[in-house]
Amino acid sequence: LVSRENHVSRSVVRVRDVPIGGDHMTVIAGPCAVETPEQTLESARMAADAGAALLRGGAYKPRTSPYAFQGLGEEGLKILAETREETGMPIVTEVVDAGDVEVVASYADMLQVGTRNMQNFALLQAVGEAGLPVLLKRGMNATIEEWLMAAEYIAQRGNLDIVLCERGIRTFEKATRNTLDISAVPVAQELSHLPVIVDPSHSGGKRNLVLPLSRAAIAAGADGIIVDVHPTPETALCDGPQALVEEDLAELRDVAGTLSTLM
Ligand code: PEP
Repeated sequence: LVSRENHVSRSVVRVRDVPIGGDHMTVIAGPCAVETPEQTLESARMAADAGAALLRGGAYKPRTSPYAFQGLGEEGLKILAETREETGMPIVTEVVDAGDVEVVASYADMLQVGTRNMQNFALLQAVGEAGLPVLLKRGMNATIEEWLMAAEYIAQRGNLDIVLCERGIRTFEKATRNTLDISAVPVAQELSHLPVIVDPSHSGGKRNLVLPLSRAAIAAGADGIIVDVHPTPETALCDGPQALVEEDLAELRDVAGTLSTLM
């Protein structure tokens, strides 16, 4: 279902009125985690300033340590919904458990399946039935074929509104949090009709890498990027070191706007 075979053109996925794929270069931005209404609203303002059409933000955070901030849960979803009311930006947010799909879908505009859950088949099937577009991150240890098979689980439940997201894979390299597999962009686009975007924040794990990796993603033909921003990363409860700050926004806007028109 997700294979390029039998599809003459590549798909465009719509999140409310925002297209991902086709001739569009879509920017999704926002905080890694929803912390407070003020932080979320300020992050949304930053995202919009950077040219983002969609707001990202996690209310359910899959953390490596059980002692790390796990997200605000439904309270966070309510904050996201209020922020959408104020800004008009549709919301992309992660769901980590099949049992939470109904509640997350009742607030979100797009459901995100994170790297750690790429092969959580019960979750894939549940999001396939939720009636919303899905952002499917590549598992950090997954081959491109396994990633596409994960998308197939979603599609098999009747949902073809899937956007693939390359977010870095595990390699021997320690200088970056993950290694951005830039070749995954053209390879996945050749094998599948689904749009492919890149997460330069979770791949590099460092603020100073986000703009160079965004440039690389756009140059490789990605259909969009998903980027962390935060008004005060030093106080962020999750992944502060990779969040772009106010001073970076103009450059991000420039990278996403001018570079994509040159492609
Ligand atoms: C995220 O986007 O918030 C996230 C946790 O990403 P990943 O699943 O790629 O680590």
